[in-house]
Amino acid sequence: MKPSRLFIGLRILASTAVSLLIILATADLWGFLAPGIVRVATWLQFLPSLVRALTAFGLLAAGFILVLALTLLFGRVYCSFLCPLGAFMDGVIAIRRRISKVKLQYVKPGVVRYFILAGIAVSLFFGSMHLINILDPYSIFARSAQALVRPLAIGLNNLLAQAGELAGYYGIAPYPFSLPPLPVLGVILAWLALVVWLAAARGRLYCNTLCPVGAFLGLASRFSVFRMSMDAEKCIQCGACSKKCKASCMDVENKTVDASRCVMCLDCLTVCPVDAVEFTAPSAAKEVETDPGRRSLLFMGAFLLTGLPSRSAAETGNGYPETIIEESLAASPTEPLAPPLSIKRKASLVPPGGMGRDHFTSACTGCHLCAAACPSHVIRPELVAHQGKGLLAPSLSYEKGFCNYNCNACTMVCPSGAILAVGLEEKKRVQMGRAQFIKQNCVVATKGTECVACAEHCPTGAVKIVREQGGPGLPKVDEDVCVGCGACEFACPAKPYKAIYVKASLIHGKALPPKKGESVQNLVGEDFPF
Ligand code: SF4
Ligand code: SF4
Repeated sequence: MKPSRLFIGLRILASTAVSLLIILATADLWGFLAPGIVRVATWLQFLPSLVRALTAFGLLAAGFILVLALTLLFGRVYCSFLCPLGAFMDGVIAIRRRISKVKLQYVKPGVVRYFILAGIAVSLFFGSMHLINILDPYSIFARSAQALVRPLAIGLNNLLAQAGELAGYYGIAPYPFSLPPLPVLGVILAWLALVVWLAAARGRLYCNTLCPVGAFLGLASRFSVFRMSMDAEKCIQCGACSKKCKASCMDVENKTVDASRCVMCLDCLTVCPVDAVEFTAPSAAKEVETDPGRRSLLFMGAFLLTGLPSRSAAETGNGYPETIIEESLAASPTEPLAPPLSIKRKASLVPPGGMGRDHFTSACTGCHLCAAACPSHVIRPELVAHQGKGLLAPSLSYEKGFCNYNCNACTMVCPSGAILAVGLEEKKRVQMGRAQFIKQNCVVATKGTECVACAEHCPTGAVKIVREQGGPGLPKVDEDVCVGCGACEFACPAKPYKAIYVKASLIHGKALPPKKGESVQNLVGEDFPF
């Protein structure tokens, strides 16, 4: 077997393994995959790793350095060996080739990718992740799998659960079916359709026009030690390599290969009838400057790198500083009773480990891996949340559940450092928000019914039922003990508006230790009539 075929086999194996691991991470309903295994697949994802390095540098953030080193040695191997979207596009290209002959050919390099890179640098400089969130290939792939493959896994699980029940086997639990909100699903589908169309019609055009990772690694690969080249002596200009090249970067006329666009799929090595295509050091290769202005491109690369740290300099650090609470919606109890008050959360809730709105939105790339990992289904992908700062970034929603006090799953999977790893004991004190009581919505005040739902569900004893001078027992929140898990909000039976809700902390705080053993009995005392 030719060595090139061996390397192509290795490429297919590596890219398939990475893609499958990411798909499994989003569709693992049963907790088969340990978080460590998921990290193996996400550690080398270039942009999340780079973003993580800028917010919390450590071993977990070093993946991008390895990718950069590999690029400087061998060119854009990330694009064909490690990028899950690249693997997906290769799958589309292969299917398209089976259906009909695709006529790929050399195309002169364009400058769109560098404008996108410059646009990202500028937007990062102004603290916006929006362009990255839309264009990062890993995040596009992961959120597409979360939106499309996960529902299939849920459907399969529920079918098996039903079949099991019919056969008298109750070992498979049905799973609540969920899709991302429609606007998020719309964006995911539209972007996926664009990727599929580009791949089917023009090979890896996405990688060499819209992908910021491709553009950045393309700059680095101009300096790679080894790269593809054509031996001008041997080449008979038959064009076989150019027709096979997914990146349209083989210029047969000039017998050159544009290293900045070559995605290192190695396909060209196998098709040349005279073995004129080689993988060599550039001294042996004829290098031709085909891109416009190498200096200007290097300038853009440097600009990008200077933009990133300046963004991170605005970060708030890793500790849990004072909690900042926006102006309260919960009016102080009024007499006579005011009409029900609707809850308008001004700030969205950030998952534990997310430190608060600004840290979270400055690092989240919108891959939705945390939403897949959350067993309580409270991490919900959103199109625009966090007061416009988080495009496709998720937030916590307590409509269908609450953050489980004994869980820190989301803090173990985030590859970009938007949600930092937090040990379970530490997580139990992270204050994502503070519960607010609205007396005029409470059934005790409006209907005279006894109710202790919020106090009963509070895992920290922050909510107590206080009965004053024989009056009705009303909830009282100790905000310093409250962690903002939303158990009270979820349990509150008041309609149409909840009588207790969690107001997000813009910067996560640290709650006081829980009041052990008081969450139920101390709240109701012996007067509780049920
Ligand atoms: S916070 Fe969630 S959506 Fe954002 S990067 Fe981390 S895992 Fe992905
Ligand atoms: S810690 Fe809370 S938000 Fe995070 S995964 Fe667990 S239940 Fe979900």
